[in-house]
Amino acid sequence: MTMTAALATNDVAFDTSLVRADFPILSRQVRGRPLVYLDSAASAQKPRQVIDAERRLYEEEYANVHRGVHWLSQSATERFEEARDAVRRFINAAEEREVVFVRGGTEGINLVAQSWGRTNLEEGDRILISTLEHHANIVPWHLLAAERGLVVEAIPIFDDGQIDMDAYRRLLDRPVKLVALTQMSNALGVITPAAEMIRMAHDAGARVMLDSCQAISHGAVDVQALDCDFMVFSGHKIYGPTGIGVLYGKAELLESMPPWQGGGEMIARVTLERSTFKGIPHRFEAGTPAIAQAVGLKAAIDYVTALGMERIAEHEAMLHALAVERLSTIEGLTMFGSHPARAAIVSFNLDGIHPHDVGTIVDHEGVAVRVGHHCAQPLMDRFDVAATVRASFALYNTADEVDALVASLEEVRRLFS
Ligand code: PMP
Repeated sequence: MTMTAALATNDVAFDTSLVRADFPILSRQVRGRPLVYLDSAASAQKPRQVIDAERRLYEEEYANVHRGVHWLSQSATERFEEARDAVRRFINAAEEREVVFVRGGTEGINLVAQSWGRTNLEEGDRILISTLEHHANIVPWHLLAAERGLVVEAIPIFDDGQIDMDAYRRLLDRPVKLVALTQMSNALGVITPAAEMIRMAHDAGARVMLDSCQAISHGAVDVQALDCDFMVFSGHKIYGPTGIGVLYGKAELLESMPPWQGGGEMIARVTLERSTFKGIPHRFEAGTPAIAQAVGLKAAIDYVTALGMERIAEHEAMLHALAVERLSTIEGLTMFGSHPARAAIVSFNLDGIHPHDVGTIVDHEGVAVRVGHHCAQPLMDRFDVAATVRASFALYNTADEVDALVASLEEVRRLFS
């Protein structure tokens, strides 16, 4: 029985062995050892339910969406729009038209920068980004700033990885147009006080672009409770397919924004002289969308919803606490980001050993961690390191895998002693 089936029939406790049985890749060996996958922050593995949903669509109901009068096209359109409704419910958006399907978080942020940003920002306007941001929530603003003469300023963080709220308050003293903020750092796991920061931004007259690419898989993201103006996440980080993501935007904002890409699917009428456009969200979905991927994303949302986001968060908190405790016993190990509001990620270095050497050696033990700057170079600069080792936990990881990580790091220490 699968984990979700078990939950549907009776209220069993969170059982990782049942969960793991849903993820075919987790039973494979790597370099002759059982795979210990601790890189879910980069991309999560997929349960059979997601893989099957995509396969079922291709085998039974696939056609292009929205334009067809034939049965298959209508069927595929229903599946695609059902996925939009599943996303709406999952993030508690007020309306389906506030959910725009994009390729991923990166594309969603670029859409806002190019459409909302170009329409609303002019020379000298200020944008705040936090020091914790992933490059995806920095570079689109840099590109726009270069084009429009905007000023991008950074919200500093403390040594524990948390936002310096006093500094943020001071930055809001002068007019700000936009705050680009992560809900959870992909490099440290630190969770920002997003709701409070959004309130403060609004009081100062600024809009907020919330990057929930990491937060989305570790707890409920409620866009109405957060009151963010825009929010993005990627399907592949929440056990769904690659190539699909979501941009949420408040309806009145999306309605005020021009299209950013032109083509089929997004028009009302085209003559040789001019084009008029559909309403939201279709105005922002030019071309054939990622149909099967959207259906796969719905299956992923159904999967985590059946398990319960709260129970997933509890399980990951247990693994995180265990990892922090066990890693603290390793000689010469420095952890980054000690703030208590943290989830699912540990970021560290071993004294005198390059993170890439650590990553390569633990890989030979079957342990997959990420090493590098994690697309957060300004954050690495803040801690004066070029790179860290990052282990990230997901709903399918176990306490034994934390032990395997620790054992593999002890092996690294032994080789370098
Ligand atoms: N923001 C954060 C916090 C992320 O972790 C990532 C992915 N590493 C992104 C944005 C970009 O997501 P994607 O590459 O799926 O577009």
